[in-house]
Amino acid sequence: MDPKKFRKAAHRLVDWMADYLEDPTGYPVLPDVQPGEIRERIADDPPERPEEMEAIVSDFFDQILPGLTHWNHPGFFAYFPANHSPPSVLAEMLTAAIGAQCMSWETSPAATELEQKMMQWLAELLELPGDFTGVIQDTASSSTLVSLLTAREKATKGEVGRSGMREGGDDWVIYASEQAHSSVDKAVKLAGFGLNNLRNIAVDDRFAMRPEALRSAIEADIDAGRTPLAVIATVGTTSSTAVDPLEQIGDIADAYDCWLHVDAAYAGSAAILPEKRWILDGIDRADTFVFNPHKWLMTNFDCSAYFVRDVDALVGSFRASPEYLKTVHDDEVVNFRDWGIPLGRRFRALKLWFVLRSYGADGLRTILRRHIELAEQFRQQVQDHPDFEVMAPSPFGLVCFRYLPRSGDPEALNKQLLAQLRQRDELHLTHTRLGEDFCLRMSIGQWHTRQQHVESAWETIQQIAAEL
Ligand code: PLP
Repeated sequence: MDPKKFRKAAHRLVDWMADYLEDPTGYPVLPDVQPGEIRERIADDPPERPEEMEAIVSDFFDQILPGLTHWNHPGFFAYFPANHSPPSVLAEMLTAAIGAQCMSWETSPAATELEQKMMQWLAELLELPGDFTGVIQDTASSSTLVSLLTAREKATKGEVGRSGMREGGDDWVIYASEQAHSSVDKAVKLAGFGLNNLRNIAVDDRFAMRPEALRSAIEADIDAGRTPLAVIATVGTTSSTAVDPLEQIGDIADAYDCWLHVDAAYAGSAAILPEKRWILDGIDRADTFVFNPHKWLMTNFDCSAYFVRDVDALVGSFRASPEYLKTVHDDEVVNFRDWGIPLGRRFRALKLWFVLRSYGADGLRTILRRHIELAEQFRQQVQDHPDFEVMAPSPFGLVCFRYLPRSGDPEALNKQLLAQLRQRDELHLTHTRLGEDFCLRMSIGQWHTRQQHVESAWETIQQIAAEL
């Protein structure tokens, strides 16, 4: 592409991006498209001849943008947030322009060293134990898999890595609460333990793991001749943001010599608030810990902060050093390619550096506190309404609730309510099931979201519910 044309197109796109970031409310949160509709609009064959950037950009606006969900819309209350922010976008632009592949120290020394520093900054902000070392992974799902693979290799002194899982060999068992994220199931499956060897531990009435149920399950497995290998605790479960009691779980993991991984994908960011730091009480017992700045710390997807205590066990499990990757500094530096599954690595630390400096810890705390306060207000309003019910504690930005009038099938009514909410341009909520109960999730975490957006969502919810 001609540099002049690049400059012109880039200026135009940056102007559009600035407008979009300032106010995305001109777009419906959810696109009004049917499956296959966007595919239909895109040419069936790749172009033989070069096309003008103007035409490509104009097709982006006409054909692609109408099929996008606007996660940064102030009315986006679905799932958990996938935060981004203007400073993070600027860093991503630079990252794309530089195009570095940061697998080794030598392939971009600044990327490795900035990543080390950013992990130290995050550890300090979350007050993590001093013997934790951090690395950026793509997602919490990969981090949990990496953790279980490391636990497996450490427990077998690398034997599984060398010889594979032995048939009729050790019957390893993994434990997580029945509210743990589906990525735990995936990791247990992919690490070769088998889903039948994952114990879904019962939860209490706040949906947090019951330590005594964990202990009983471990003892039952030992009695049956199996070997408890790892426990995965969740801080901020996906359905309702329940916080598993780390101290008690840590005691049990210690007592039975189990590896302990803590998945705080969404809620971990809240530990930057002194009043929420309690959520990580007991983290000193963990072997590994993950949280996602790409969820609730204003940092573009993807950016998972993964912390480990035993770096040698991690690197020993993942290191591969073919001749073509060897560099002259290998003995003196960290090569993050040995700290996870992919060889190639994006320069993800840059966006953290931009975000942490641009907002400062104090600015980030202000945003998180605002979300938590809005969630508290919303929760109070739901609680005060005679025909609605709050379904779980809400220590962060998520409120689980349902419509529960005196008559009618609650599940059918809430499904109708959700279906009608989906027709609205200005908001988007998703659902979950807590116990047997179908309920709605109001997840407040976008940096644009203010009181008026939450109040207007509550008005809309009540109005639709009253007309069901
Ligand atoms: N763990 C928990 C508790 C989550 O809530 C989620 C996603 O919402 C994940 C893991 C998966 O996160 P990722 O998309 O980074 O793999």
